[in-house]
Amino acid sequence: MTSHAADALSQGLARPHACHWPNCLKQVPPARFMCRAHWFTLPKDLRDRIWAAYVPGQEITKTPSAAYLAAAREAQAFARNHVPAKRAAPPAPQAALF
Ligand SMILES: [Zn+2]
Repeated sequence: MTSHAADALSQGLARPHACHWPNCLKQVPPARFMCRAHWFTLPKDLRDRIWAAYVPGQEITKTPSAAYLAAAREAQAFARNHVPAKRAAPPAPQAALF
């Protein structure tokens, strides 16, 4: 094995990457799609599809399947449209005064 190939391999295995949730900068292992909190925010059927399409080692070969990319895009679309429950507008307190 050449030293160049060894370097590429060790980087692929060791280098963490950021969570795929938009604007989440949490570092996660290469085989993890999102940090734990965001992963469990995804609907279960979407998580199941990402795992079903995941091929061990794809983060090293950089050749994920079309099914994986489609599920990944759907997860990111879900994330962009996701509004945390705590952002819901509270009822206007002034309404009680009239
Ligand atoms: Zn995250």
